[in-house]
Order: sequence, then structure tokens, then C-alpha cells
Amino acid sequence: MTTFTARYTQLLERIHQACQQVDRRPEEITLIAVSKTHPVSALLEAYEAGLRHFGENRIDEIAEKRPVLEKQGYTATWHYIADPQSRHTAVVADYADLLHALDRPKIAQRLAHRLQETGRGKLDVLIQVNISGETSKSGVNCQTWETDPSQQQQLLQLITAAQNHPQLHLKGLMTMAPWDVEEPLIRSVFQRTRQLRDWLKTQQPGLQLPYLSMGMTDDFELAIQEGATHIRVGRALFGERH
Ligand SMILES: *Cc1c(COP(=O)(O)O)cnc(C)c1O
Repeated sequence: MTTFTARYTQLLERIHQACQQVDRRPEEITLIAVSKTHPVSALLEAYEAGLRHFGENRIDEIAEKRPVLEKQGYTATWHYIADPQSRHTAVVADYADLLHALDRPKIAQRLAHRLQETGRGKLDVLIQVNISGETSKSGVNCQTWETDPSQQQQLLQLITAAQNHPQLHLKGLMTMAPWDVEEPLIRSVFQRTRQLRDWLKTQQPGLQLPYLSMGMTDDFELAIQEGATHIRVGRALFGERH
């Protein structure tokens, strides 16, 4: 076994166990391989091992890696997992299949414009919510969403803004837990994200938000237990970053 397949096998086992603890099926979880800083050869290896979802957080990497794989005939779903700055929206619209980190109406507008202009048509999007309130994190501020009508309004307005663009298909929420904190706090961030998703569905009849993107190498077990449908894993697959 190569180092990669050994890591991948171990990761699948961890996912399996986390699912078992809460009576979920591993098929419910989409594993996104996050190869940032690693060369495209790492992705080719991942593809050959069976991975079909790739996550990038830098536009130069998604723009480089996707065409290389496609040239090999390797079709995958490409996730852009970082906050796209205004000047990068065209690259995201051109190369991503699912954006995880929409957090303001202006970005929605720019993406929709580009999708229309190029004829690419559509992009799935998740709204990133900042539940922990850490200023280092992007996402819509939802630190006290349960009791703060202004935070609720801001999020509902962004949802409406996204829905106004037929090119954007809103699929759910994404969040990141704080690092280096106790497990109960990490768990509560995931739990409150799921509760927020459930609450949003009560606010708009017919609103479907099936995806919850949460959990990374150090915390995906907790995220799975709290309802994650998409986990974004880097180090457990590719090793430490250079
Ligand atoms: C880097 C990154 C990941 C993966 O992190 P690991 O800890 O290496 O698994 C997941 N999500 C986002 C947004 C990232 O930037």
C-alpha cells in the first residue's frame, strides 16, 4: 500500500466509526479531499484511489489543478472552500461546482453575472456561517443567532439575495469550528449550525438546505455526529502541509 492509500483506508475507517456511533450510513457523508499546498500529483493519486470530490481554497490552485485532471479524463466535483474575494469571483464561477463560503450579496451578484456571461450556467452554493464569533473567521456573523434578530435578518437577506439569481443554487450551510478548544465547544458549534439550518427552513416555506459542510481532520467525527453531510479533509489524507 502507498502512504496515500494507507491514510485513505484509515480515514474511511474513522468515518465509518463516527457514523456507527450515531446510526448514520457512511454513504451519507461526502468526503472532500483538500489538497492545498500539495502538488497536482497528489490529486492524481487521490483520484486513482477513488476520491471524486476535491476542495481548494486558493484560486491559483483550483485553476491549475482542475484542467490537469480533466486532461487525463478524470471528472470530479470541485469545491471552492474559501471566502472568494471580489476580484476572484470569475475564477470561482469558471472552475468550481460548489462554493462553500458565500457570505455577502455582492459576491452572489458577481458570481451570477459571470456564470451568465460565460454560459456556464449554474453554481451550487453554501452560505458560510460564523458561529464561534472568532474575528479570524469569515462567514455571516451568527454568534448569537438564537437571540439576535439582526443576525437572523442579515442571514435571511443573504438567502433572498442568492435566490434572486437563478444561476446560484443554494444548498445549505458551511461552518468552521475554532481550533485548540475543548470538545464540547467544538461540538456546540456544529450543533448550533444544524439548529440554524433547521430554523431557517421554518422561516421560508419550501426552503431546502440539505447540505451541512462541517468538519476537518481534527474534528470531523464530532461534525458527523452532529449531522455533517460534507467533510473537508486535508492532513488526514495528504499529510502535513509544506
Ligand atoms: C485547509 C482547510 C480544510 C482542511 O483542513 P485539515 O485540517 O487539513 O483537514 C478544510 N476546510 C477549509 C476551509 C480549509 O481551509
